[in-house]
Amino acid sequence: MEQAIIIGAGPCGLSAAVELRKVGIEPLVIEKGALVNSVFNYPTYMIFHSTPELLEIGGFPFTTPHEKPTRLEALNYYRMVAERYQLRIHLYETVTSIERGDQMFRVLTKDRFGAKRAYGCANVIIATGYFDHPNRLGIPGEDLPKVFSFYKEAHPYAGMKVAIVGGNNSAVDAALDLERAGAEVTVICRGERLSDRVKAWTRPIFESMEQKGRITVYYSSRVTEIHDHFIAVETPDDTFALENDFVFTLIGYRPDRTLLRSLGVGEDPESGAPLYDEETMETNIPGVYIAGVVAADNKQANAIFIENGRFHGRLIAEHIAGRDRRSR
Ligand SMILES: Cc1cc2nc3c(=O)[nH]c(=O)nc-3n(C[C@H](O)[C@H](O)[C@H](O)COP(=O)(O)OP(=O)(O)OC[C@H]3O[C@@H](n4cnc5c(N)ncnc54)[C@H](O)[C@@H]3O)c2cc1C
Repeated sequence: MEQAIIIGAGPCGLSAAVELRKVGIEPLVIEKGALVNSVFNYPTYMIFHSTPELLEIGGFPFTTPHEKPTRLEALNYYRMVAERYQLRIHLYETVTSIERGDQMFRVLTKDRFGAKRAYGCANVIIATGYFDHPNRLGIPGEDLPKVFSFYKEAHPYAGMKVAIVGGNNSAVDAALDLERAGAEVTVICRGERLSDRVKAWTRPIFESMEQKGRITVYYSSRVTEIHDHFIAVETPDDTFALENDFVFTLIGYRPDRTLLRSLGVGEDPESGAPLYDEETMETNIPGVYIAGVVAADNKQANAIFIENGRFHGRLIAEHIAGRDRRSR
């Protein structure tokens, strides 16, 4: 039987794995995609807003000649940490369910060829993030193939009419990137201004593009329908059809709590946050821990990110090691 299984090899799951190793526990990490799969799927040329030392895990130095690391540097870094600490990671294996037994859990998985496996473990750490579950607009046409919830890079959209729904960093970064590549960009922002979280160094560039008319922005507005060749836009003054080729809905993400719920982990009725002890990251179900973004509430999913979620692992490791010592 495994002493600990970690579900998800994102930065916070990996951090938990390293911290467990440091207290003498050899966890098994199960990841449904590639190592740090969310970071891998971020925009190709993305630059982190955090400086490198704030993304470090396990005390392993993250150096870069740049002020802020790129996605590629982060991929190299997390790969290096996993190698140096010789973490046991099963990639491309999805945890489909977890069963609660007497003093143990059974983690059921399926690999990419459909083969099923089951693992017994004493502790389970859920670090499944939120990136796989983008928020949805819930409007007609949202499932058309021209609509995307993730942005990778600009080239395919050069010369195209592109609408971006959103008003936070992902929307602003994508709008600037697309405009540079020669797309005709319209941003539809629900708020009366951009989010306060938009990076201080991109905001003036975006505002300048807006003033020059190189990016059109509709504030206090929403897209109400998406069609093959146009979208319906509702502004405070008007509702109109806007010619359109592609739509990016970049309106944030929300953790999927299916596994937690199936184990009996409760949720705060107000915020939707899972019930857990902030000092140990243990949920209301003994032996079930959470690490990283999955611990965030529904109102502020961005309140936990790598900078702070990376410390959850140490709390978990200390708690499991302490409990094991006490029970000896
Ligand atoms: C564009 C962008 C830029 C960002 N920039 C920054 C920044 O500069 N600084 C910062 O601190 N944060 C930043 N963030 C936020 C940060 O990336 C996330 O907070 C971080 O990835 C959270 O780490 P995590 O380990 O909790 O989750 P994730 O990194 O999402 O990892 C979760 C992992 O679990 C896996 N998984 C999910 N379900 C299963 C399952 N059933 N079975 C097996 N595996 C599963 C997923 O494939 C994934 O690899 C940014 C986010 C975005 C989108």
